[in-house]
Parts: sequence; structure tokens; C-alpha cells
Amino acid sequence: MARIQLENVTKRYKGMKEGRAAVDHLSLDIQDNEFFVLFGPAGAGKTTVLKTIAGIEFPNEGLVKIGGEIVNLIEPMYRNVSMVFENYALYPHFSVYDNIAFPMRSPLHKKDEAYIQKAVERVVKMMKIDGLYDRKPSQLSNGQRQRVAIGRCLVREPKVFLMDEPLAHLDAKLRHFMRGELKEMQSAFNTTTIYVTHDFMEAMSLADRIAVMNNGKIEQLGSSLQMYYTPVNEFVARLFGEPEITIFPAELSSKNGRLGLKALGQEQPLFPEKDAGHALQEAGAASVDVGIRGIDIQFSLAPQDASWIKGAIYAFEPIGNKVIMTADVKGEKIRIAAPNSTSADLDEAVYLKFNMKNALFFDGVSKTIITHKK
Ligand code: ADP
Ligand code: MG
Repeated sequence: MARIQLENVTKRYKGMKEGRAAVDHLSLDIQDNEFFVLFGPAGAGKTTVLKTIAGIEFPNEGLVKIGGEIVNLIEPMYRNVSMVFENYALYPHFSVYDNIAFPMRSPLHKKDEAYIQKAVERVVKMMKIDGLYDRKPSQLSNGQRQRVAIGRCLVREPKVFLMDEPLAHLDAKLRHFMRGELKEMQSAFNTTTIYVTHDFMEAMSLADRIAVMNNGKIEQLGSSLQMYYTPVNEFVARLFGEPEITIFPAELSSKNGRLGLKALGQEQPLFPEKDAGHALQEAGAASVDVGIRGIDIQFSLAPQDASWIKGAIYAFEPIGNKVIMTADVKGEKIRIAAPNSTSADLDEAVYLKFNMKNALFFDGVSKTIITHKK
């Protein structure tokens, strides 16, 4: 149980280009017992953050604190953190049981065998691998191996769990199941957890709070709903939601004294809500990008009047619980969430209407948010 703080941490690996850093003046304050998710694309610096907390990498600048104590100079084994890596390494010549028991047999955290047996039994039950005690890693499926690795991470009662994409190699169904299990486990364990993923569904379903990382920095910190409804910029908006939000450029125009947005080559401007219109005028941005999510687009395959935007079906992808339909409007690809019952042919005409109440507006140059529904 511990609060984790990073204060202005910078990590540059040897050979990195001038001015580049894997982690760049990053500060974080993670509460005791929080389930904290680091989310972002490959290369963002997520693994490096975990490694500086674990003590496997040392920051060039800044402080790392665990439970209020500065640990910059403390060796990994004395930090009492438990980490599971994406490329989990099990000991090939050890059985499942011995692999999981291993951390409790290390000199520093040594426990007696009766204690170990209880602890191993507890985690194997949770991980649903209790029938596999005597198997060697080579006799396990990838998913089972990954669960053994997670089990080994969970078997101790460290101050912090650090999990680096622990479910990345599982198939979709097992991943979904394990997500639920991990969440439950974490609340049972009362241990601070920092969890790395590049899967937004995983991030949203697990996290108390999420930090979106990009280029060694935090783009936004908040709850999953904040990321979805109030992203600070286009980068964050694009990461959350399926289908990906559509963002297209627009020009401010005025029609009968009302602010409109000329976009997508349409005669008819799009009209933002009154409050959003005021905010856009106040911001005085030279250009505006409009973001609209797939569920905020109404569509019709039958012809509609000029207030609808005409496009052509560009792609049609059933994904199980819905269909992601992409329309081409003057070269702009608009992604729509359509019900499963939808059927449409490629190149078929489609008419769209945007629910502008839920639109997001970004500065066309800085790509940061101007206004959105609160
Ligand atoms: P993520 O986990 O978000 O994918 P990483 O923390 O692994 O990102 O990497 C961040 C950046 O640091 C990347 O540009 C990566 O190439 C670089 N990097 C990571 N590890 C090393 C290393 N050992 N030596 C040099 N560069 C590294
Ligand atoms: Mg990584």
C-alpha cells in the first residue's frame, strides 16, 4: 500500500537524439490503493515510467517517491514492488507452482513453505490455473503462461503492482474475462496498481484514473469519462471511442447573424449549439476542427433534403454488436456507428445528419479543445 509520486522525472536512454527523452519532465501523483492506468501508443514512454518506479531504470532528473520516501537511490529489490512485464519470462525448468512461489523464496522476501502454499493456492484459484501446478511453461498455452506470470506478480503483498500490458497476448475473450478478474482482485488486495495498456477499452474499464501519454509527456489525466467527453485535444479524442471520432476542418461563417461552420464542401453550414457558438467566437481561432462521434451521426440510405449531408458508403464493417460504416463526403471519411440490422452497398448514396449538441470543437492550428458539452 503506497502513494507513488514522480516529480519532474526525465529519462534519456543512451544514444537518444538531442532533445528527445523517453520520459520528459513528467510528474504524477498516484494515490494509495488507486488503480491507475498509463495509456498511450507504442513508444510513448509507458514502460520506462514503470521501470523507473521499479528501479530497473534510473531517471536522469527528478524524484521517484514510494509511500512518501524518495527511492531514487534504492535498489529494485528493496523497493517492494511487484512487476509483470509484457514479455513475461517464466523459468522454463520450474513447474507452475515453483514459478509462482519463486518471489516468496527469494532471500529478501522469504516465507516458510506452509505460508507459500496458501499464497500460491489463493492466486492460482483467482487465475483459474489451479489444475496446472505440475506443468512446465512449455506445456502451457500462451494465455496460461501469461496467467502464471500475473499470478507470480500477485502472490506477494508488495506496496505496488506494476503491470505492463499483462493481457496483450491473450485472445479477445480471455482478455475480457481477465479484465474483470484483475479489477476484482485489485479491490480485494488494497494495493496501488499502475497498469499499462494501449487498449482503450481496457483502460476505460479498469482505471480509477487514466494518464494519456505521448512522447514522454502526459497529454491528459482524468477519469475514463473525462477522456471520452472532455478530451483536451484531438490526440486524446481520437484514442477513446469506437469507431474513432471523425475530425474535419471547418471555416467560421455567419448566416443571418448566426454562427455557422462551413465544412465538408456543403452549401448548408453546420450550426453549433448557442453556447458552443459563443465559445468559438470568443476563442477567435483562425480555423476550427469539428469532432463528431459515430453514435452522434444519424444516417439514411433514402434521399433526404438539403439539410442532410450527402456522401457515399466507403466501408462497411460489422464488428458484432454494431456496424462501423464509413461514408466518404468530399474526400473526408466519416465514421458512423450503425445498428447490426443495417445493410448497405459500397458506393451507395448515404445521407447524414450530425447531432451538433455533442460535437467537439478544436483549434485548427494547435489542435487543442475550444469547447465541448460539459
Ligand atoms: P512504451 O512502453 O510506451 O511503448 P517505452 O518506454 O518502451 O515506450 O519507450 C519510450 C522511448 O524510449 C521509445 O522511443 C523507445 O524507443 C525508447 N527506449 C526504450 N527503451 C530503450 C533502451 N533500453 N535504449 C534506448 N532507447 C529506449
Ligand atoms: Mg511498453
